Amino acid sequence: MIYNTLGKTGLEVSRLGFGLMRLPTKANNADIDKVEATKMLDYAIENGVNIFDTAFSYHSEVLGNNGESENFLGEYFSENTLRDEILLQTKSPSWAIEKFEDFDYYLDEQLKKLQTDYIDLYLLHSLTVPDWEKVRDLNVMDFLDDALSSGKIKHVGFSSHIEVDYVIEIIDEYPKFEVALTQLNYLDEYYQSGVMGTNYLKQVNMGSMIMEPLRGGRLVNNIPDEVNKIWDMAEVKRTPVEWGLQYLWNRDDVDCVFSGMTTLEQVKDNVRIASTEDVISEYDQEIIREVARTYRTFLGNNCSRCGYCMPCPHGVDIINCLTEYNIAHMMGDPKASAMQYFSLIDDDSRADSCVDCKECIPFCTQMIDIPAELQKVYEYFGSDFDHF
Ligand code: SF4
Ligand code: SF4
Repeated sequence: MIYNTLGKTGLEVSRLGFGLMRLPTKANNADIDKVEATKMLDYAIENGVNIFDTAFSYHSEVLGNNGESENFLGEYFSENTLRDEILLQTKSPSWAIEKFEDFDYYLDEQLKKLQTDYIDLYLLHSLTVPDWEKVRDLNVMDFLDDALSSGKIKHVGFSSHIEVDYVIEIIDEYPKFEVALTQLNYLDEYYQSGVMGTNYLKQVNMGSMIMEPLRGGRLVNNIPDEVNKIWDMAEVKRTPVEWGLQYLWNRDDVDCVFSGMTTLEQVKDNVRIASTEDVISEYDQEIIREVARTYRTFLGNNCSRCGYCMPCPHGVDIINCLTEYNIAHMMGDPKASAMQYFSLIDDDSRADSCVDCKECIPFCTQMIDIPAELQKVYEYFGSDFDHF
């Protein structure tokens, strides 16, 4: 295993982190196959993985609710003596916080679920701008200061899918944040905070942790022929998983990549890749860029996310509605995109809030008929997640 220093925390972390949001399940998402999941954790730890990422809501029956992932991890570490040898990271459900006391309520619940008296890395989960403003106004910084002083948490950070400017604002507002978990893969360099975000984290010496390195498996499943032909031209033959992970580990602004693994074979394969030095040549870096360009030809519309059409006077989040629709077309995984669409975009900012006033159209740099596209987005995703 290869290890990196996690920014100013000084922690030495395996560059592969174990994400516990896609563990093997039986009947439903909350019913974890504990026998199989235990084998996966055993193998990962025996082979050097030392950081594990969960969240209050992972493996819940209903999106965003109390989940089983933390319970499973708590049970796992209660049956061995490994707890102090690994780094445990979990996240506060920022969307569920309604008053100051809720911060402590969730942290104490999580400590109970995890059967531990401290959490190595505690993150505010999936911060949106409104959620950050809400928790900030509810004095989250006082809560974090107290939790750090009491030793219940050792380091703090946040995870987020927002744009880089907001990431920087959040970091500026609370300098005790030491780590951030953001989305990056070779298709998403300029999506959400992307590479500008990881560059910034490096600049300010924060730990840079990555989620969705393979876009939830979409960069490795059902690969179009056009893409396979480009991979075949590379100097070094790599599997799709190797391309996705080594792309990230070739960046010096990435400390740890979390993979949400579902099978023991995936754990073995990821551990093998994480233990192998693989410097990608400039020629093969160009191959990666060409693959990304090819994927983009499958987009549903030409939105460049420039933002000139925003803000919509009726509150529609035009950029993210069009983006999630594009990703669904590009990656051919409607359910995964729908999950993003319904969890990241507020109810009254989705495509069905467009009233067809047409005010945004003259501002579009790509000449997109925005309300017509939003109608397509609505027809594609509908008004709730249930039918996916
Ligand atoms: S057409 Fe729709 S998206 Fe455009 S400004 Fe009007 S309400 Fe907003
Ligand atoms: S102006 Fe057009 S291209 Fe730019 S974000 Fe809006 S819809 Fe997308």
